[in-house]
Amino acid sequence: MIGSINSDITIAADTLVKPNETIVGHADYILSQGGKGANQAVAAAAAGATVAMVACVGDDSFGESAIADLKKSGVDCSHVRTIAGASTGMAAVLVDSAGNNMITVAPGANGRLGVADIRAAEPLIRASSILLLQLEVPLAAVEEAARIARAAGVRVILNPAPAPASLPDWLDQVDILIPNQHEATALAGRGAGASAEATAQHLLEAGAGAVVITLGGDGCLLAQAERRQYVAPYAVDAVDTTGAGDTFCGFLAAGLAAGDAIGDAVETANAAAAISVTRPRARESVPSAADVARFRDQ
Ligand code: ADP
Repeated sequence: MIGSINSDITIAADTLVKPNETIVGHADYILSQGGKGANQAVAAAAAGATVAMVACVGDDSFGESAIADLKKSGVDCSHVRTIAGASTGMAAVLVDSAGNNMITVAPGANGRLGVADIRAAEPLIRASSILLLQLEVPLAAVEEAARIARAAGVRVILNPAPAPASLPDWLDQVDILIPNQHEATALAGRGAGASAEATAQHLLEAGAGAVVITLGGDGCLLAQAERRQYVAPYAVDAVDTTGAGDTFCGFLAAGLAAGDAIGDAVETANAAAAISVTRPRARESVPSAADVARFRDQ
Protein backbone atom coordinates (compact mmCIF):
# COMPACT_ATOMS: atom_id res chain seq x y z
CA MET A 1 0.00 0.00 0.00
CA ILE A 2 1.37 3.38 -0.95
CA GLY A 3 -0.73 6.37 -0.01
CA SER A 4 -1.95 9.03 2.32
CA ILE A 5 -2.34 9.23 6.08
CA ASN A 6 -4.61 11.97 7.42
CA SER A 7 -6.30 13.01 10.62
CA ASP A 8 -9.88 14.20 10.15
CA ILE A 9 -11.32 16.88 12.41
CA THR A 10 -15.10 17.05 12.06
CA ILE A 11 -17.30 19.79 13.53
CA ALA A 12 -21.06 19.46 13.19
CA ALA A 13 -23.35 22.48 13.31
CA ASP A 14 -26.95 23.25 12.33
CA THR A 15 -25.74 25.04 9.20
CA LEU A 16 -22.53 25.40 7.23
CA VAL A 17 -20.48 28.52 7.88
CA LYS A 18 -20.37 31.30 5.26
CA PRO A 19 -17.26 33.28 4.24
CA ASN A 20 -16.06 35.64 7.01
CA GLU A 21 -18.65 34.27 9.44
CA THR A 22 -18.07 32.48 12.76
CA ILE A 23 -20.71 30.08 14.04
CA VAL A 24 -20.91 27.84 17.08
CA GLY A 25 -21.06 24.13 16.31
CA HIS A 26 -22.30 21.23 18.40
CA ALA A 27 -20.40 20.75 21.62
CA ASP A 28 -17.59 18.38 20.70
CA TYR A 29 -15.50 17.92 17.58
CA ILE A 30 -14.62 14.44 16.39
CA LEU A 31 -11.01 13.56 15.69
CA SER A 32 -10.74 10.46 13.54
CA GLN A 33 -8.11 8.62 11.54
CA GLY A 34 -8.36 9.03 7.78
CA GLY A 35 -6.56 9.28 4.48
CA LYS A 36 -7.52 7.04 1.61
CA GLY A 37 -4.22 5.14 1.77
CA ALA A 38 -4.46 4.41 5.47
CA ASN A 39 -8.18 3.57 5.29
CA GLN A 40 -7.59 1.10 2.49
CA ALA A 41 -4.60 -0.42 4.31
CA VAL A 42 -6.77 -1.00 7.39
CA ALA A 43 -9.55 -2.51 5.26
CA ALA A 44 -7.13 -4.89 3.52
CA ALA A 45 -5.71 -5.94 6.90
CA ALA A 46 -9.23 -6.47 8.29
CA ALA A 47 -9.91 -8.66 5.25
CA GLY A 48 -7.00 -10.86 6.31
CA ALA A 49 -4.17 -9.64 4.08
CA THR A 50 -0.61 -8.96 5.20
CA VAL A 51 -0.28 -5.22 4.63
CA ALA A 52 2.67 -2.84 4.70
CA MET A 53 2.26 0.88 4.14
CA VAL A 54 4.66 3.29 2.44
CA ALA A 55 3.74 6.83 3.50
CA CYS A 56 4.85 10.01 5.27
CA VAL A 57 3.62 11.70 8.46
CA GLY A 58 4.79 14.79 10.34
CA ASP A 59 6.52 14.67 13.73
CA ASP A 60 3.37 15.78 15.54
CA SER A 61 0.95 13.99 17.85
CA PHE A 62 -1.41 13.31 14.91
CA GLY A 63 1.29 11.36 13.11
CA GLU A 64 2.07 9.39 16.27
CA SER A 65 -1.52 8.39 16.83
CA ALA A 66 -2.04 7.59 13.13
CA ILE A 67 0.88 5.16 13.22
CA ALA A 68 -0.28 3.67 16.52
CA ASP A 69 -3.75 3.12 15.04
CA LEU A 70 -2.38 1.51 11.86
CA LYS A 71 -0.16 -0.81 13.91
CA LYS A 72 -3.11 -1.76 16.10
CA SER A 73 -4.96 -2.69 12.91
CA GLY A 74 -2.11 -4.97 11.90
CA VAL A 75 -0.51 -2.73 9.27
CA ASP A 76 3.30 -2.83 9.05
CA CYS A 77 4.50 0.79 9.35
CA SER A 78 8.25 0.23 8.99
CA HIS A 79 8.16 2.17 5.69
CA VAL A 80 6.21 5.11 7.11
CA ARG A 81 8.65 8.06 7.27
CA THR A 82 8.26 10.69 9.98
CA ILE A 83 9.39 14.06 8.62
CA ALA A 84 10.86 16.48 11.18
CA GLY A 85 9.12 19.84 11.11
CA ALA A 86 6.29 18.67 8.83
CA SER A 87 2.67 18.34 9.83
CA THR A 88 0.61 15.20 9.34
CA GLY A 89 -2.07 15.45 6.64
CA MET A 90 -5.27 16.97 8.02
CA ALA A 91 -8.82 17.17 6.73
CA ALA A 92 -11.06 19.85 8.25
CA VAL A 93 -14.64 18.66 7.82
CA LEU A 94 -17.71 20.78 8.51
CA VAL A 95 -21.11 19.11 8.42
CA ASP A 96 -24.63 20.50 8.79
CA SER A 97 -27.75 18.85 10.15
CA ALA A 98 -28.86 17.90 6.61
CA GLY A 99 -25.65 15.91 6.11
CA ASN A 100 -24.04 18.40 3.68
CA ASN A 101 -20.35 18.92 4.18
CA MET A 102 -17.43 21.21 3.35
CA ILE A 103 -13.96 19.67 3.46
CA THR A 104 -10.53 21.23 3.09
CA VAL A 105 -7.48 18.97 3.18
CA ALA A 106 -3.97 20.09 4.10
CA PRO A 107 -1.76 17.39 2.54
CA GLY A 108 1.10 18.07 4.99
CA ALA A 109 3.64 15.25 4.95
CA ASN A 110 1.64 13.33 2.30
CA GLY A 111 2.87 15.90 -0.20
CA ARG A 112 6.46 15.01 0.64
CA LEU A 113 6.23 11.31 -0.31
CA GLY A 114 8.87 11.22 -3.01
CA VAL A 115 10.43 8.93 -5.58
CA ALA A 116 13.27 8.31 -3.08
CA ASP A 117 10.74 6.88 -0.57
CA ILE A 118 9.44 4.55 -3.25
CA ARG A 119 12.91 3.42 -4.28
CA ALA A 120 13.77 2.75 -0.63
CA ALA A 121 10.71 0.49 -0.53
CA GLU A 122 11.56 -1.30 -3.79
CA PRO A 123 12.38 -4.68 -2.16
CA LEU A 124 9.03 -4.53 -0.30
CA ILE A 125 7.12 -3.70 -3.49
CA ARG A 126 8.85 -6.45 -5.45
CA ALA A 127 8.08 -9.00 -2.74
CA SER A 128 4.36 -8.12 -2.64
CA SER A 129 1.58 -9.76 -4.62
CA ILE A 130 -0.53 -6.60 -4.95
CA LEU A 131 0.31 -2.88 -5.03
CA LEU A 132 -2.68 -0.69 -4.13
CA LEU A 133 -2.47 3.00 -5.07
CA GLN A 134 -4.61 6.15 -4.83
CA LEU A 135 -3.90 9.75 -5.85
CA GLU A 136 -3.68 11.59 -2.51
CA VAL A 137 0.14 11.60 -2.71
CA PRO A 138 2.42 13.09 -5.42
CA LEU A 139 1.95 11.56 -8.86
CA ALA A 140 5.70 11.04 -9.37
CA ALA A 141 5.76 8.64 -6.40
CA VAL A 142 2.63 6.81 -7.60
CA GLU A 143 4.02 6.38 -11.11
CA GLU A 144 7.39 5.14 -9.86
CA ALA A 145 5.69 2.58 -7.63
CA ALA A 146 3.53 1.33 -10.50
CA ARG A 147 6.60 1.04 -12.73
CA ILE A 148 8.57 -0.98 -10.14
CA ALA A 149 5.62 -3.26 -9.44
CA ARG A 150 4.87 -3.95 -13.09
CA ALA A 151 8.50 -4.73 -13.86
CA ALA A 152 8.43 -7.29 -11.03
CA GLY A 153 5.11 -8.86 -12.09
CA VAL A 154 3.25 -7.43 -9.07
CA ARG A 155 -0.41 -6.63 -9.79
CA VAL A 156 -1.18 -2.90 -9.70
CA ILE A 157 -4.55 -1.61 -8.49
CA LEU A 158 -5.31 2.11 -8.80
CA ASN A 159 -8.17 3.86 -7.04
CA PRO A 160 -8.00 7.18 -8.96
CA ALA A 161 -9.16 9.33 -6.05
CA PRO A 162 -9.34 12.25 -5.80
CA ALA A 163 -10.29 12.38 -9.48
CA PRO A 164 -7.40 13.65 -11.60
CA ALA A 165 -7.96 16.43 -14.14
CA SER A 166 -6.99 14.17 -17.02
CA LEU A 167 -6.48 10.54 -17.89
CA PRO A 168 -3.05 9.34 -16.62
CA ASP A 169 -0.88 8.38 -19.61
CA TRP A 170 0.34 5.32 -17.69
CA LEU A 171 -3.00 3.49 -17.41
CA ASP A 172 -1.40 0.59 -19.28
CA GLN A 173 0.60 0.03 -16.04
CA VAL A 174 -2.64 -0.54 -14.13
CA ASP A 175 -4.08 -4.05 -13.88
CA ILE A 176 -7.28 -3.02 -12.13
CA LEU A 177 -8.70 0.52 -12.05
CA ILE A 178 -11.35 1.16 -9.37
CA PRO A 179 -13.05 4.55 -9.80
CA ASN A 180 -16.39 5.57 -8.36
CA GLN A 181 -18.92 7.00 -10.80
CA HIS A 182 -17.70 10.56 -10.39
CA GLU A 183 -14.04 9.61 -10.87
CA ALA A 184 -14.84 7.37 -13.84
CA THR A 185 -16.68 10.18 -15.61
CA ALA A 186 -13.94 12.68 -14.81
CA LEU A 187 -11.29 10.29 -16.15
CA ALA A 188 -13.08 9.23 -19.29
CA GLY A 189 -14.33 12.72 -20.13
CA ARG A 190 -17.68 13.58 -21.59
CA GLY A 191 -16.82 11.92 -24.91
CA ALA A 192 -17.15 8.47 -23.39
CA GLY A 193 -20.93 8.50 -23.17
CA ALA A 194 -23.24 8.49 -20.21
CA SER A 195 -23.48 4.83 -19.23
CA ALA A 196 -21.10 3.11 -16.85
CA GLU A 197 -20.46 0.49 -19.55
CA ALA A 198 -19.42 3.10 -22.11
CA THR A 199 -17.17 4.78 -19.54
CA ALA A 200 -15.58 1.46 -18.60
CA GLN A 201 -15.03 0.65 -22.27
CA HIS A 202 -13.22 3.96 -22.73
CA LEU A 203 -10.97 3.27 -19.73
CA LEU A 204 -10.17 -0.24 -20.97
CA GLU A 205 -9.22 1.23 -24.35
CA ALA A 206 -6.99 3.74 -22.53
CA GLY A 207 -4.97 0.79 -21.23
CA ALA A 208 -6.41 -0.42 -17.90
CA GLY A 209 -6.40 -4.23 -17.68
CA ALA A 210 -9.79 -4.34 -15.93
CA VAL A 211 -12.13 -1.65 -14.63
CA VAL A 212 -14.40 -1.86 -11.60
CA ILE A 213 -16.71 1.14 -11.37
CA THR A 214 -18.35 1.41 -7.95
CA LEU A 215 -21.91 2.66 -8.28
CA GLY A 216 -22.77 3.58 -4.69
CA GLY A 217 -26.21 2.20 -3.81
CA ASP A 218 -26.35 0.52 -7.24
CA GLY A 219 -23.51 -1.94 -6.58
CA CYS A 220 -20.72 -2.02 -9.13
CA LEU A 221 -19.71 -2.92 -12.67
CA LEU A 222 -16.79 -5.24 -13.45
CA ALA A 223 -15.51 -4.68 -16.99
CA GLN A 224 -12.82 -6.79 -18.59
CA ALA A 225 -11.90 -7.15 -22.24
CA GLU A 226 -14.29 -10.01 -22.80
CA ARG A 227 -17.02 -9.45 -20.25
CA ARG A 228 -19.19 -6.95 -18.41
CA GLN A 229 -20.77 -7.97 -15.13
CA TYR A 230 -23.03 -5.87 -12.93
CA VAL A 231 -22.85 -6.87 -9.27
CA ALA A 232 -26.12 -6.02 -7.53
CA PRO A 233 -26.00 -4.02 -4.29
CA TYR A 234 -26.95 -5.53 -0.96
CA ALA A 235 -30.13 -3.94 0.38
CA VAL A 236 -29.01 -2.19 3.56
CA ASP A 237 -30.01 0.87 5.56
CA ALA A 238 -27.23 3.31 4.73
CA VAL A 239 -26.20 5.42 7.72
CA ASP A 240 -22.87 6.88 6.55
CA THR A 241 -21.32 6.12 3.15
CA THR A 242 -17.99 7.78 3.98
CA GLY A 243 -15.20 5.34 3.30
CA ALA A 244 -17.35 2.83 1.38
CA GLY A 245 -14.97 3.03 -1.58
CA ASP A 246 -11.94 2.56 0.70
CA THR A 247 -13.44 -0.58 2.24
CA PHE A 248 -14.27 -1.83 -1.26
CA CYS A 249 -10.69 -1.31 -2.52
CA GLY A 250 -9.09 -2.85 0.57
CA PHE A 251 -11.23 -5.99 0.44
CA LEU A 252 -10.81 -6.36 -3.32
CA ALA A 253 -7.02 -6.16 -3.02
CA ALA A 254 -7.00 -8.62 -0.11
CA GLY A 255 -9.18 -11.08 -2.03
CA LEU A 256 -6.83 -11.03 -5.00
CA ALA A 257 -3.81 -11.39 -2.70
CA ALA A 258 -5.47 -14.49 -1.23
CA GLY A 259 -5.75 -15.95 -4.73
CA ASP A 260 -9.43 -15.25 -5.45
CA ALA A 261 -10.56 -14.71 -9.04
CA ILE A 262 -11.42 -11.07 -9.72
CA GLY A 263 -15.17 -11.77 -9.93
CA ASP A 264 -15.14 -13.41 -6.49
CA ALA A 265 -13.01 -10.62 -4.99
CA VAL A 266 -15.46 -8.03 -6.36
CA GLU A 267 -18.40 -9.88 -4.78
CA THR A 268 -16.67 -9.91 -1.39
CA ALA A 269 -15.73 -6.22 -1.70
CA ASN A 270 -19.34 -5.37 -2.57
CA ALA A 271 -20.54 -7.12 0.61
CA ALA A 272 -17.85 -5.53 2.81
CA ALA A 273 -18.63 -2.04 1.49
CA ALA A 274 -22.36 -2.61 2.04
CA ILE A 275 -21.71 -3.43 5.70
CA SER A 276 -19.51 -0.33 6.04
CA VAL A 277 -22.34 2.01 4.99
CA THR A 278 -24.54 0.67 7.80
CA ARG A 279 -21.98 1.92 10.36
CA PRO A 280 -20.95 5.51 11.13
CA ARG A 281 -17.57 7.02 10.18
CA ALA A 282 -14.96 5.80 7.72
CA ARG A 283 -12.25 3.91 9.56
CA GLU A 284 -14.43 2.52 12.33
CA SER A 285 -16.98 1.18 9.83
CA VAL A 286 -14.62 -1.35 8.25
CA PRO A 287 -15.95 -4.89 8.87
CA SER A 288 -13.82 -7.95 9.60
CA ALA A 289 -13.56 -10.90 7.22
CA ALA A 290 -15.76 -12.84 9.67
CA ASP A 291 -18.44 -10.09 9.59
CA VAL A 292 -18.47 -10.30 5.80
CA ALA A 293 -18.73 -14.10 5.77
CA ARG A 294 -21.68 -13.99 8.22
CA PHE A 295 -23.39 -11.21 6.23
CA ARG A 296 -23.13 -13.16 2.97
CA ASP A 297 -24.59 -16.29 4.62
CA GLN A 298 -27.73 -14.43 5.74
P1 ADP B 1 -17.08 6.03 -2.83
O1 ADP B 1 -17.18 5.79 -1.36
O2 ADP B 1 -15.68 5.98 -3.34
O3 ADP B 1 -17.83 7.23 -3.33
P2 ADP B 1 -19.28 4.36 -3.80
O4 ADP B 1 -20.24 5.37 -3.24
O5 ADP B 1 -19.40 4.02 -5.25
O6 ADP B 1 -17.77 4.75 -3.55
O7 ADP B 1 -19.45 3.03 -2.93
C1 ADP B 1 -18.53 1.97 -2.98
C2 ADP B 1 -19.24 0.65 -2.81
O8 ADP B 1 -19.91 0.65 -1.54
C3 ADP B 1 -20.34 0.36 -3.83
O9 ADP B 1 -19.83 -0.20 -5.01
C4 ADP B 1 -21.19 -0.64 -3.04
O10 ADP B 1 -20.57 -1.91 -3.06
C5 ADP B 1 -21.11 -0.10 -1.62
N1 ADP B 1 -22.23 0.84 -1.33
C6 ADP B 1 -22.19 2.19 -1.31
N2 ADP B 1 -23.40 2.71 -0.98
C7 ADP B 1 -24.22 1.66 -0.79
C8 ADP B 1 -25.62 1.51 -0.42
N3 ADP B 1 -26.40 2.57 -0.21
N4 ADP B 1 -26.12 0.25 -0.32
C9 ADP B 1 -25.34 -0.84 -0.54
N5 ADP B 1 -24.02 -0.77 -0.87
C10 ADP B 1 -23.46 0.45 -1.00
